[in-house]
Amino acid sequence: MYKSIVLYPDTFLWFTETLGVFYNCENTSFVQFEITPLLLKYCFRINDFNNMYTIAIDPEDENDTVFCKWLNRIVNNHIGKIVSLAFIDKKPFSLPPILNLRHELEERRMDDFYYRPINIANNFHEVTFLLGGERMSEEETGYYKQTHYPISSEFRLEVSNICSFLDNNNIRYLQQINIVSGELSAYPDLEFLLEKLFQYDIPLTYFFRGNDVEGVSKVLKYTSSGKISLGLYFADVKSFQETESLLKDGGIDYRWIFLLREENEWEQAQRIVETYDIEYYNLVPVVTSNVSNLDFFSENVFTSYNELSHMSLTKQNIFCNQTINSNCWGQLFITPDKKVYANLNGNSLGTIGEDVLCLIRKEMTGGESYWKYTRDKVIPCKACIYRYLCPPPSNYEFYLKRFDLCTVNNL
Ligand code: SF4
Repeated sequence: MYKSIVLYPDTFLWFTETLGVFYNCENTSFVQFEITPLLLKYCFRINDFNNMYTIAIDPEDENDTVFCKWLNRIVNNHIGKIVSLAFIDKKPFSLPPILNLRHELEERRMDDFYYRPINIANNFHEVTFLLGGERMSEEETGYYKQTHYPISSEFRLEVSNICSFLDNNNIRYLQQINIVSGELSAYPDLEFLLEKLFQYDIPLTYFFRGNDVEGVSKVLKYTSSGKISLGLYFADVKSFQETESLLKDGGIDYRWIFLLREENEWEQAQRIVETYDIEYYNLVPVVTSNVSNLDFFSENVFTSYNELSHMSLTKQNIFCNQTINSNCWGQLFITPDKKVYANLNGNSLGTIGEDVLCLIRKEMTGGESYWKYTRDKVIPCKACIYRYLCPPPSNYEFYLKRFDLCTVNNL
């Protein structure tokens, strides 16, 4: 009796000459298998779009034990089904999950339609201003390339620079403004800055040191819009308690940020969180200036096989992993020397006085696009079977210029 394998439309299949992986986005089923010559033949046929995810089973192949077990796993893990052709009138078929690029490609050909200003502005979601004007310790100087953290710079970004950027560019689709500073209260035009930014009806987060109690009190005067939040770098318990007493009834969203360089900082942060019952906080690992804490990263940050095999991704997530870097997409950073970056680990796109849409176009179409920096573009990930399940390249990887921050060894 003739039968067919029909894969479900939410199932992806990736394979190399030695390994295969099925992933069904609907039920997050992950099935890994070793490739035999027979399975390799079937995998090629499954991924041939013309077969519409439906492959006839050669009855002879059912004598192969490995093949039969493979079929059972497909059915038992809801990767697809086996259909007996004797009981149906029409040939079965399914739709493989393939990103439809045709529309985009056609648009690109249409007189640069795709890169018309309105389409570009639509992709600009978040901007971060690093105020500068202060020197950070030697150890801290690289942190701003890894996470939202103050930059060490003698230059200072003026309020007029920030406002002219926001006033003179198309920010219709901007969803988030971040202001990053060390000691916010030391910024000379702080009241003016707070007042001006308060007027844009866009969610705003101030990142600065949690021991800057004066800075916290000043920001608290501008909270009635409900769109302002704080990210406070934890300094010590005493200043934490002082700041907390101000914030408790301040009607503002805030979270504490614990920078972690090694295991004992991790344990200490967790103790503080439990002792003081801190509800909103982020534990943020950072690579030290001499890159001496890679062991800590390897144990706590590196992606493991266990994480990859338990990912919960939608089809859209996987399409994103195939085409863009969702960690970077839509973001710009402005440094105190008035330069604009798509990512602080790369070269600047231009300066704050240029039209932001031209800068974004440069980012989207240029060779070194962080917004489009996928695992397909880096070694060793481009040869890795998990590259579309794995989260896109992170700032840690850009900072270290290495893209093997995982404990998965399949290459
Ligand atoms: S090699 Fe790259 S894609 Fe593969 S698991 Fe490691 S980090 Fe992810």
